[in-house]
Amino acid sequence: MDFEFSKEENELLAEVRAFLKKETTPKLLEETAKLGLIYGGPLGREFIHKFAANGWLTLNWPEEHGGLGKSAMLNFAVREEMAYARVPLIFVAAHMAGPTIMHFGSEEMKKEWLTPIARGEVEFALGYTEPQAGSDLSAIEILAEDRGDHFLLNGQKTFNTHSHVADYHWLAAITDPDAKRYHGMSMMIVDLKSPGITIRPLITMAGWQTNEVFYDDVIVPKKALVGEKNQGFYYLMAALDYERMFPLAAYQVVYDRVVEYAKETMVEGRPLSKNLLVRQKLAQLAIAFEANKLLYYRLAFILDSGQIPNYQSSMQKLFATETAQQVANTCMEVLGLYGQLKKGSKWAALEGEVEHLCRTSVVETIYAGTSEVQRNIIAQRGLKLPAK
Ligand SMILES: Cc1cc2nc3c(=O)[nH]c(=O)nc-3n(C[C@H](O)[C@H](O)[C@H](O)COP(=O)(O)OP(=O)(O)OC[C@H]3O[C@@H](n4cnc5c(N)ncnc54)[C@H](O)[C@@H]3O)c2cc1C
Repeated sequence: MDFEFSKEENELLAEVRAFLKKETTPKLLEETAKLGLIYGGPLGREFIHKFAANGWLTLNWPEEHGGLGKSAMLNFAVREEMAYARVPLIFVAAHMAGPTIMHFGSEEMKKEWLTPIARGEVEFALGYTEPQAGSDLSAIEILAEDRGDHFLLNGQKTFNTHSHVADYHWLAAITDPDAKRYHGMSMMIVDLKSPGITIRPLITMAGWQTNEVFYDDVIVPKKALVGEKNQGFYYLMAALDYERMFPLAAYQVVYDRVVEYAKETMVEGRPLSKNLLVRQKLAQLAIAFEANKLLYYRLAFILDSGQIPNYQSSMQKLFATETAQQVANTCMEVLGLYGQLKKGSKWAALEGEVEHLCRTSVVETIYAGTSEVQRNIIAQRGLKLPAK
């Protein structure tokens, strides 16, 4: 087995690293942390426009669509570098909608959307969940009535995270209410500035904003339809497989700081790093980070062989997000009571980073499908156990 990148790939990664070091400012980091690493804030956009001008945002896309025609493996490595640098990391357009358009969109749609997405000029919000439909997305009710030359949208979405900073909604809506389950849904790209849209904030325990979005007689042109009408459930699921690819490097940064903290901090005359329990727990996480890398890069390998990973994405999403919670909990245990203090307190260890991590890591096992849902997918599609 050879896990090394080629000389050329290593050179590109070194260039990316140098760019991140030069262009990352404290203000950008502050904005990105406030937004929970999602893309769309003003400084994030400025930064990503420069970054994407090199073709790095979608470097595994074909050159005709604004990519560099490189491997998904290299793209994943770049995403890890971005996660470690804590710059905007979660893109709906570049990471979910774009690849889905490439697979299922018309030529016209590819021409209209892919290059602007690759340049970071547009961002989408993910419009799946509704108050009565989360894990079971076949239960959505928002209606897109066919009015000949346009659709008329009425209904509500909830927990739509990017809506307040994005330009368009990657929206799942019912286009045939009489059809059997899974067969009456379509995907469409809706301008979030359209008259009739109201966005209301929902603040999570992490302090991050997600949103409710209300649609009241919103007119959507027919050309906004992705692929074929009433086939949307399949596109929605494919886009979810692209979403469930989680680099853990944003957690690794904090873990690395805690490892250093353990080396430098004296407790009762001994370095914390000599405490047996601390060593055991930190070592256990080192294994988890490595195991996650293998699951993560396996997804890139599957993409590079021309397929969309499926239950394999669920395995990685589940492992990464449950590991993220273990990282947060272990880091908190190592720091002790000072770790529980918030940023701003003069006694807070590591500027309250771990306290924040404990709150943010909770949502990781919920969005993009809960851990229970991932286990169901692995059981059914991976192990071929019968559906419930
Ligand atoms: C911070 C955050 C950001 C989000 N961002 C977005 C976004 O941008 N766009 C978007 O569309 N959605 C978003 N979501 C929504 C998210 O995808 C849903 O919350 C998630 O899929 C769960 O759906 P639900 O909240 O309706 O819970 P439910 O589906 O009601 O689930 C409740 C509980 O029941 C369990 N459960 C449900 N079905 C099963 C089953 N078949 N077997 C076993 N257990 C089951 C679940 O695991 C969970 O523990 C976000 C959520 C959060 C918390």
